Amino acid sequence: MTRTIWLNFCLLLLLAFSGLASAQAQTPAASANAASQPAAAQPFNIDAAVNFYLNKMPPPERARSNAYFEGGYWLLLWDSLSTVLVAWLFLRFRWSARMRDLAERFTRFRPLQTALYWIQFILVFSVITFPLTVYEGYFREHKYGLLNQSFGPWMRDASVALGVEVVLGAILLIPLFAMVRRLEKTWWVWGAVLTVFFLAFVSLISPVYIAPLFNKYSKLQDARIKDPILSMARANGIPATEVYEFNASEQSNRVSANVSGLGNTLRISLNDNLLKRCTLPEIETTMGHEMGHYVLNHIYKGLVMSGVIAVIGFAFLRWGIAFSLARWGDRWDVRGVTDVAVLPLAVIVLSVFLFLNIPVGNTVTRTMEYEADMYGLNAGRQPDGEANVDLMLGEYRKMDPAPLEEFLFFDHPSGRTRITAAMRWKAEHPETASAEEMARPIFPAH
Ligand SMILES: [Zn+2]
Repeated sequence: MTRTIWLNFCLLLLLAFSGLASAQAQTPAASANAASQPAAAQPFNIDAAVNFYLNKMPPPERARSNAYFEGGYWLLLWDSLSTVLVAWLFLRFRWSARMRDLAERFTRFRPLQTALYWIQFILVFSVITFPLTVYEGYFREHKYGLLNQSFGPWMRDASVALGVEVVLGAILLIPLFAMVRRLEKTWWVWGAVLTVFFLAFVSLISPVYIAPLFNKYSKLQDARIKDPILSMARANGIPATEVYEFNASEQSNRVSANVSGLGNTLRISLNDNLLKRCTLPEIETTMGHEMGHYVLNHIYKGLVMSGVIAVIGFAFLRWGIAFSLARWGDRWDVRGVTDVAVLPLAVIVLSVFLFLNIPVGNTVTRTMEYEADMYGLNAGRQPDGEANVDLMLGEYRKMDPAPLEEFLFFDHPSGRTRITAAMRWKAEHPETASAEEMARPIFPAH
């Protein structure tokens, strides 16, 4: 409940050390590296080309990125365990029942009771889990150099996010509990349907009402970037007349581009870090990837997949709630599935489900990301630019994981997988080889 699934396809989240890095001329060392590469006209060795790019990343960078990303595996576990533990406290000490009683004393109007309960629940829950939140979101990000914000602005964003959670949670829970009360047998099916409509609603309003709460969005003006992007959009049948730009550097050095929205609000946005750090070929391959999400209808397909996962999740929820209430319902003073005080139990059951679902969810998104990569290579025709962007992503995402690791934990393909795809494409299109992109240093000299 507290972790909303945002259908936001992020391609690029990476570090930018300095806006000047992309403008720097190639160093002699890099030129020597490029010279040692087989020329495009000679037989092209894909493995050698992949290793050439992987070796552009210095060992200390790689070690830092691996440590950051592998630490994230454990955070998945600690997040789930802490959610389960804190939700259990609400039941064990009957905080949940007391919150419900308070809401009932305040009003007889049930939708308002649901909302009042939810506000109490989410506020107390957020306060108790705050130490973990601040460690994960603030101290740990700073430790790895991935956050630009000082504590004040970070706290401001966290508070706004909580406000959004309060409002969206109420919008979901009021009709959900009304439905459970009317349809005591079939609520789990209709609950899954309602959840999909809710996710679609969030996707629809997100670019217009949610994203601007955290960043300033404007229409991209620079014709040197905008014109080639819009040309590519026209060539790919995308009726876009604008590309959006947002000031992500406010929060971090990571670069991102994404497709967001639904219907009329569907749009492609790229951030200022990307604009500052990347060359035009790199921006083009990134935009080709995002256009792939657009043309391949990944937002709609993601909603359908969410629906499938939601039906299974709600079936598990129905079973988990019935099982637990039969044993401990009286002790917790929870009257039944129609009682809003059941929410912490629902959070526990769904946390277990979502934890077990991580590899499935990751595989669904990673598969679509790989499709978008293939589309981006064909649309952008910049395999060397693509390899450089993949290297930049490697600053925070492990470049070269074991296959099982990639299956379990990666929601995007790994750097090695992506660079291999780019070099495979390049082998079939030797005319696209770019000496400048090959020679370009991505990491500062050590
Ligand atoms: Zn993507």
